[in-house]
Amino acid sequence: MAMIFVHSIWIALLSGSLSTLLAQGTSPQVIHLVEPGDTWRALALQYGVSEDVVRGANPHINSRGEPAIGTEIVLPVDDPLIENRGLLIRSVKAGLLELSTLHNANPWQLALINDFRSPYSPHLNRPIFIPDGETIPRELPIGFRSLELSASPILPGQVIGFRAQLNRPVSVTATLADVRFAVPQKEDRVIGIAGTGAFFPTGNHDFTVAVEGFPPWVQPLNIKPGIWTYEQINLTGSAAAIDQASIREEWERLSTVWSMVSPEIRWQATFRLPIDNFLEFSSLYGAHRSYNGGPYSSYHEGLDFSAYGGTPVLAPAAGIVTLAEFLYVRGGAVIIDHGYGVFSGLYHMSEVLVQPGQRVEAGQVIGSVGSTGLSTGNHLHWDLLVGGTQVDPLTWLDRDLGCWLLEGIGTACDQGDVS
Ligand SMILES: [Zn+2]
Repeated sequence: MAMIFVHSIWIALLSGSLSTLLAQGTSPQVIHLVEPGDTWRALALQYGVSEDVVRGANPHINSRGEPAIGTEIVLPVDDPLIENRGLLIRSVKAGLLELSTLHNANPWQLALINDFRSPYSPHLNRPIFIPDGETIPRELPIGFRSLELSASPILPGQVIGFRAQLNRPVSVTATLADVRFAVPQKEDRVIGIAGTGAFFPTGNHDFTVAVEGFPPWVQPLNIKPGIWTYEQINLTGSAAAIDQASIREEWERLSTVWSMVSPEIRWQATFRLPIDNFLEFSSLYGAHRSYNGGPYSSYHEGLDFSAYGGTPVLAPAAGIVTLAEFLYVRGGAVIIDHGYGVFSGLYHMSEVLVQPGQRVEAGQVIGSVGSTGLSTGNHLHWDLLVGGTQVDPLTWLDRDLGCWLLEGIGTACDQGDVS
């Protein structure tokens, strides 16, 4: 009880208006999922309340800076509709007076909306709001007209994609913590593709976007905990005596294959499953694995399909074959480069029907289901890699990221049969 008492005083001290609402017993509120550019200031403008009120309603978040993308914040308003529409412009050179001329706005009105005493007041390097009646105000990187993420919230093991429209073609780079995005660009459009693994730490990470010639834009992005299955695997006899050095060697060799970033998007359609006839998903991506009673220190890096031996294995999307051979761990293996750091690996096949360097189309037969390499029965393992990291193929398929990304740079995408 004491804790609750202290907590309510804390809220009351931080926000006079919120404590009033609480005292009345009914507190109108809107829950807002934070998107890129939703700073405290932008949210205050969007919902037509003061920044102090927005901050006061979220005291558990605001001590750490701007709200994190993918988290939910409370707005003490009773209408979820956006109140103000317009641009938030952070200009390096232009002050309020220049911006009002540029955007054909009344300088005194702009000064009033932006809490400036007059259009001649020095601008304090804070973004200036210019009403336009249509744009949701967000503090985006300089030169960005829009910036949207492929998923929110984001879980470990997912691909993180973004799409953005620019005011003019400029060079863009982006990172999430130390993960670098591949950033295909076409004129004034840019998309980003990055992968996180199943052990990617949850919590807030810096999402940084840098436009050539300007200081980087940074906003925290929240990664929520994933939901995993757990598998206990007991290796006995010859399986327990597997050759660790060969496993490492194979991994190192494949790492160089799938760390390449071909500057061309080779897929043209929705990705498909690499097999038409299978019995079940016998192991999901990210399943945490314990071997012989040890800790759950590794996870399943792909998606397993149990299927009869000899079932045709298909290319999930178009690409160039970069590896086609029999490996110690992965057995009959084919790796396809779909472009911009996106790869498929299909493993444990009884036969491999393509050659390195060959272009394959989506749905083309590349091999047959088998139980080669370190495998205990007929199944197909599908790795989907982004920027050298295995990601969950099902989350890529669920959100049709192939087409979502292509459309982001204005390229038509064949969405195939929607069943
Ligand atoms: Zn597997």
